[in-house]
Amino acid sequence: MKQIIIATKNAGKAKEFREFFSKYGIEAVSLLDMEQDIPDIEETGSTFEENAALKAEQISLLLNKPVLADDSGVMIDALDGRPGLYSARYAGEPKDDQANIDKVLKEMKEVPEQSRTARFICVLAVAVPGEETIFRKGLCEGKITFAEKGEKGFGYDPIFVPEGFDSTMAEIPSDTKNRISHRKNAINQLENWIHSL
Ligand code: IMP
Repeated sequence: MKQIIIATKNAGKAKEFREFFSKYGIEAVSLLDMEQDIPDIEETGSTFEENAALKAEQISLLLNKPVLADDSGVMIDALDGRPGLYSARYAGEPKDDQANIDKVLKEMKEVPEQSRTARFICVLAVAVPGEETIFRKGLCEGKITFAEKGEKGFGYDPIFVPEGFDSTMAEIPSDTKNRISHRKNAINQLENWIHSL
């Protein structure tokens, strides 16, 4: 079976990538699945593209294999695009999904329904030894709720209702999320590359 290495130690992202690539008959191996201990790559970039490239290129160099990395987050209009690049650690260190949700809900307490628009963004970088890094971007539009709901997914899923739905990302089945998500929209644009693997 063909393999692709996914430069993530985030179990939620790793599961989604496994599900996406299994449809193409490709095994997505995340850094959580590898015996070799891969150091954390510091996300010191000032854009999603820079951070995704840092992760993909450094790990590809280390393993001498093609590596796909994603950098993602949620951008909330009423918060001027925050948490954005800092989504994973919005409430500070250590990374804590619940603390991030609590902070967003508190900051958005007074924001009326019609102004709660937001989008998830995902930038993928694919680094292949000796080749130029490829980038693809995907978005998923939606709204931030007033309270969290649902147990599925990860990150901000319990407070994000995607456009066209009445339930949060954490309430809808994972195969529905994987059809409409920012990550799926970015992966769709990699189809040609996937077929060349
Ligand atoms: P990264 O590891 O720097 O890309 O962190 C991305 C962060 O954005 C995650 O830790 C989540 O907080 C948030 N995020 C990205 N994608 C999703 C998603 O599909 N659902 C919910 N939160 C997400």
